[in-house]
Amino acid sequence: MFNELRFKFARFMQGRYGMDQFSRFLSMVLLVLVAANFFLRVRTIGLLCWAVLFYMYFRIFSRNIPKRYSENRKFLALQSRVTGFFRNFRRSASQARDYHIYKCPQCAQKIRIPRGKGKIIVRCPKCGHEFQKRS
Ligand SMILES: [Zn+2]
Repeated sequence: MFNELRFKFARFMQGRYGMDQFSRFLSMVLLVLVAANFFLRVRTIGLLCWAVLFYMYFRIFSRNIPKRYSENRKFLALQSRVTGFFRNFRRSASQARDYHIYKCPQCAQKIRIPRGKGKIIVRCPKCGHEFQKRS
């Protein structure tokens, strides 16, 4: 009985796109929306749940495989841009904690100086100009 159902489902899915990273992401969005809907009971969120659910299954059962594939590619590119942005943001935040960024008064070259060294002479690596700073 169960095997037969599985077989039928496999036949149904033949030539259809199926699950991908974008749909998995949509299912997570759906989960968050369903939880938000449970607590907030806002009608717009309820409608949005149905919209996301519908769109997700539309993609999974779609026969236009090249189109879905290119959507997924776009999604992955966007996702890596977003995660890259947050990684850079974290890195520059930790740099701000450990380093001072000074600008050379002569050529405006940015110079990174470790914090907590007291008064120091900074020598610009670009123009050789020397100036005193507190770090
Ligand atoms: Zn300089």
